[in-house]
Amino acid sequence: MITRSEDWKNALADAVRDPAELIELLDLPRELVEAARRAAIAFPLRVPRGFIARMEPGNPADPLLRQILPLDAENTPLAGYTTDPVGDRSAAVVPGLLHKYHGRVLLAITGACAVNCRYCFRRHFPYSAENPARGDWQEALSYLRKHEEVNEVILSGGDPLVYDDEHLAGLAQRLADIPHLKTLRIHSRLPIVLPERVNDALLAWLTGNRLQPVVVVHANHPAELNYEANAALERLKSAGIPLLNQTVLLKGVNDHPDSLAELSGELFAAGVMPYYLHLLDRVQGAAHFEVPEAHAIELIAILRARLSGYLVPRLVREIAGAPGKIPITEV
Ligand SMILES: *Cc1c(COP(=O)(O)O)cnc(C)c1O
Ligand code: SF4
Repeated sequence: MITRSEDWKNALADAVRDPAELIELLDLPRELVEAARRAAIAFPLRVPRGFIARMEPGNPADPLLRQILPLDAENTPLAGYTTDPVGDRSAAVVPGLLHKYHGRVLLAITGACAVNCRYCFRRHFPYSAENPARGDWQEALSYLRKHEEVNEVILSGGDPLVYDDEHLAGLAQRLADIPHLKTLRIHSRLPIVLPERVNDALLAWLTGNRLQPVVVVHANHPAELNYEANAALERLKSAGIPLLNQTVLLKGVNDHPDSLAELSGELFAAGVMPYYLHLLDRVQGAAHFEVPEAHAIELIAILRARLSGYLVPRLVREIAGAPGKIPITEV
């Protein structure tokens, strides 16, 4: 299937940003508009129309809506919820380049996303001051050239795939020119929320050099996997790219064994292996999504009893300063 390369830019530009329009499109109570406007001042609403189409009209508790609808609860400061819960600011070795774990680095190439997830741990990140593209990536590339112990680069953000293919192709080639790098990993929610993004140009640069590509998508609920999202995953799979998924455990969205089991099953059917189930990062404004650790452990125990082992994601938490994601297990 040929996908025209510019379709996704139109879909991205056409995302809904006005709470009143969202409420109207979904036939939701008007009183949600004012609260959404208040909360959107600190972190704007942004959601592609194709993602809205997967929501149930008239249902304020829709699990996809809950991920993107700004609420008053976001404006209530709470002890323990900070603006940089995972210590990203202190981990940047050069602007935008996070080297926290052995052997791999994370390059936050943009602060932009196609969707603004209300629980996002990067909602307060000062991207404009941390732009690694400044000076044509020179600082990040020279750090990587010097650090021979790094073999994997993770393109992240924001969402790295909001960048256009021409730039990404150039960056990928320059990474491939660094001999000790082996793997190019992409962390993106776009194959799910803006499936048009997975076009031929993207597949061409992602598979067009000597680096082993890996794509980690981000789906939280089985209703996200509609026909278009599955088709995007199929295009990635057909190009031979290993696919993993990470999910954030979110109260009122996916904190139920049926949702998580169905999500794993549908991902696997689409060629995607469940990877991480993240406990919420304690970012200011997201406390209403918190699922207590004890409940998360119960959910994983139910999944383990119900599913093939490879369908059970690893329950993890990120802790500032730790050498990797921390596995959460029963004690
Ligand atoms: C999560 C993360 C990674 C990737 O960790 P894996 O366990 O390999 O998936 C790498 N660097 C940073 C800074 C991260 O936050
Ligand atoms: S797509 Fe990812 S980085 Fe962007 S807002 Fe959602 S969770 Fe955050």
